[in-house]
Amino acid sequence: MKTVRTIAEIREHVGQARAAGRTIGLVPTMGAFHGGHHALMRAARERCDEVVVWLFVNPTQFDEQSDLAAYPRDEGKDAAEARELGVDVLFAPSVDEVYPPGFATTVHVAGISDVLEGAQRGVSHFTGVCTVVTKMLNMVMPDLAFFGQKDAQQVAVLRRMVRDLDIPVELVVIPTVREPDGLALSSRNVHLSREDRGRAVALSRALRTAETVLAGGESDAEEIAQRARQALGDVEPEYLALVDPDSFQPINNVNGRVLVAVAARVGDTRLIDNTIITTAATPDGAPTTQEDT
Ligand code: AMP
Repeated sequence: MKTVRTIAEIREHVGQARAAGRTIGLVPTMGAFHGGHHALMRAARERCDEVVVWLFVNPTQFDEQSDLAAYPRDEGKDAAEARELGVDVLFAPSVDEVYPPGFATTVHVAGISDVLEGAQRGVSHFTGVCTVVTKMLNMVMPDLAFFGQKDAQQVAVLRRMVRDLDIPVELVVIPTVREPDGLALSSRNVHLSREDRGRAVALSRALRTAETVLAGGESDAEEIAQRARQALGDVEPEYLALVDPDSFQPINNVNGRVLVAVAARVGDTRLIDNTIITTAATPDGAPTTQEDT
């Protein structure tokens, strides 16, 4: 595996791969790899000839400077894991390489960027994500780019962006990888104290509760949300919402696909999680549920 740091080097590398007829897969990350990142890399390895992992802690998508400063970084360990998984190139540019002096352009997807995560973290969060992802896609020009369902709103925003800007890439979405007790893997989990690690399972417990309530035949979104909030116990949500998985508009009555999204601070650590549930009427009219993630 090769590590490259400049746009010129990555262009040279993928240019040669493409000229040789190889398909290019890109896995965007901010490093501090865990099983979720590994799943994305494995999927890329399976589907593409040339696998590029992007490792860049993007300062413009952080709404809190303390979060950026404390973000875990260990490029040596990440590089060893990526190599082990058969990644071809680790592309780890500097902040100056991505944002040279005078940088003045942003990409903003209106509407869907402004709710839930956008409302909590500020409009600049998804503008930061969309701008860096546009740049990254222009630098690497992959055939496929791999993202995690863990960041469901990011996926929905990027799908809209890719469609609206006619960016020639296929987005591939990988299910959320979890700890045995249900906690979604996240680079930020390392910040949880022992006690908070125990409390953090509340988020996935709330999502499982929403699934159970839906499976029991309840279709009123507010009632389902109430029951899920109760399952959070002493963990106070920033939001717990039932929305359309594509538009992120609120759903009042569940009929078809619904995304249940939750965000909460556990101690000082902000966690997010979600599940997509599909309800389908059975012949006798009783709804069944099927979890997507
Ligand atoms: P990050 O390094 O946190 O920016 O994440 C890089 C990619 O990994 C994003 O597409 C995330 O959605 C994805 N990801 C993060 N956590 C998980 C997880 N637990 N399971 C699957 N994908 C994940």
